[in-house]
Amino acid sequence: MKNRWNAALFEQFTDDLLAQRVYSSQLLGQEPQLVLHGGGNTSVKITEENAFGEKEDILYVKGSGWDLATIQAAGFAPVKLEILLRLAQFQHLSDAEMVRLQRTAMTQPDAPNPSVEAILHAIIPFRFVDHSHADAVVTISNTANGLERIQSIYQERVLIIPYVMPGFELAKLVYEQTKNIDWDTVDALILMNHGVFTFHQQAAQSYNNMIQIVQQAEDYLENLNIKELATHQTGQQAIHTLVGLRKKVSQIRGQALIARMDCQGSTFSFSKLPNLSSIANRGPLTPDHIIRTKRNPLLLDQAIDEALEAYSKDYQAYFDEHHLKGLQCLDKAPRWALIPSKGAVYFGRTVQEMQIVTAIAQHTMRAIYKAEQMGGWTALSRRDLFNMEYWELEQLKLKKNKESAPMQGKIALVTGAASGIGKATVIALSKAGAVVIALDINPDIMHTFSSPQVKSYICDLCDEKAMTACLLEGVAHWGGLDYLVLNAGVFPPSSKIQDMPLSIWDKSLEVNLSAPQRLLQHCQTFLEQGIEPAVVLVGSKNVPAPGQGVAAYSVAKAALTQLGRIAALEMGEKGIRVNILHPNAVYDTAIWTQSVLESRAKHYGLSVADYKSNNVLNVSITSEDVAQTIVTMLGPAFSKITGAQLPLDGGNTRVI
Ligand code: ZN
Repeated sequence: MKNRWNAALFEQFTDDLLAQRVYSSQLLGQEPQLVLHGGGNTSVKITEENAFGEKEDILYVKGSGWDLATIQAAGFAPVKLEILLRLAQFQHLSDAEMVRLQRTAMTQPDAPNPSVEAILHAIIPFRFVDHSHADAVVTISNTANGLERIQSIYQERVLIIPYVMPGFELAKLVYEQTKNIDWDTVDALILMNHGVFTFHQQAAQSYNNMIQIVQQAEDYLENLNIKELATHQTGQQAIHTLVGLRKKVSQIRGQALIARMDCQGSTFSFSKLPNLSSIANRGPLTPDHIIRTKRNPLLLDQAIDEALEAYSKDYQAYFDEHHLKGLQCLDKAPRWALIPSKGAVYFGRTVQEMQIVTAIAQHTMRAIYKAEQMGGWTALSRRDLFNMEYWELEQLKLKKNKESAPMQGKIALVTGAASGIGKATVIALSKAGAVVIALDINPDIMHTFSSPQVKSYICDLCDEKAMTACLLEGVAHWGGLDYLVLNAGVFPPSSKIQDMPLSIWDKSLEVNLSAPQRLLQHCQTFLEQGIEPAVVLVGSKNVPAPGQGVAAYSVAKAALTQLGRIAALEMGEKGIRVNILHPNAVYDTAIWTQSVLESRAKHYGLSVADYKSNNVLNVSITSEDVAQTIVTMLGPAFSKITGAQLPLDGGNTRVI
């Protein structure tokens, strides 16, 4: 266990206890072997003067919803220590009441809710308290004779606490067990199946104690010669399984999900273990993971439908066994899946949620493999896990970030994404919550978007092999395809038919018509497995109202429109909607430089401003307007519309 303490850096916080707390909390948070996403918590006790000039002891404890890796001073909730200590003396306290009373004892009403472990932090009589869910310690405690193993590692100066629910119950147990101890003889609390608490008057020593406790567990594993999962082999992506699975799991969850298959070294090795179905079914690494990953992953050892049916049945039985007083059964969708001898698939409503599931699942697989070498993985009972999963305070955490964007979990592909309409469409889609595969021939595409919701590829759509490779990679990256926006195109130099070089004609037809046709063809199989799938083709005003000198462009766009109409006919029975947008005079794109604009305006005897808004409504059309319309056409407002052509031109007299 790496000790990340930097004494020189720490010196700048000498006079600021809260800054010290922020620093060492981040050190814990940066080590995934100690805490994962939102896990663990820390506190510091500070004496402050209140508005009446009286001294008060305040516990600054990690606020709910903050992550230790990135926590700031504002992430700590200040709670009056005296009140927390009095709460610890209650015989009973419901969790909802505990949260309410803790909130009323805060000195800053706008601070986040204090951690559910606030009372436990309060009763530990040291200034700094650090709490982690260290993999090594929890792995050893999650074995058949975990308690004896933990006892043999930490013979003195460590107090071992049996598993109880976090929150008031745990605080109460620790309060009772430590009433008569001399705290100076104890360096840490080990919570079975849960984690470690360390504490000290000095931030550095509390952190060092944590590192040391975890190091002892790691040394123990090393002395027993416990092996890690092998990483030298990698499996094959099973893309059609992934896409089919993502759709079915989304349906059960009642919400579009993104999904990713992991066939990398250690996951691949885990998926090949002969007793996979048994070890994967026993439960999570720590109980708080259950709200992220459920009790167990889906085991895809049969057809998708049958496997999901078995998973749902098992979940219903688990709920029926344990539920009390009018609890609602949560959705029965797995949060991750194991495919024997292939790898794992992780699901999420958002990129962040999928990343959390990924990290937890990967740590869990490594822990299970090690525990199996120590007599067998033994997670908590179904009862304990159920109580945690249906604990009102845990469910509250999930509800908090439930507000979802309209296209959350949807997967879109946009061509010509590096500039103009394509770029604006990618931005509008990601704002609406979708994830995007962004394709462009321009290498700038690799730096156009910084959002984790966008996966970019440099791609020449006229090169069929390169195009299909990008498509497969993109679909594998997000787990499917729901929306296709065929936007990429070229506007060739004007030329009358009589004078037109063949190269201009051929290029326009290739880029504006044949390349989109091939992409549409390759996308269909994925769109058929998509969620409310839809296609938008970007046509042109030139289709209904052509002009002289642009035959190469207009003919290609007219044929593209016809392609869209036939696609609407052919794909409708598969539930895929296909609509066509005809924008006009979108002047904030790369084609329309200032000099082109000036010369075109002059040609009509207009100022640039008048030229730009030369339409019935006298408005100018921007790329963003087009992007918003594309998003609308992909979304539910168009759920019963297909084969339609929509002008976006401010009203053109020739089109009307
Ligand atoms: Zn904990």
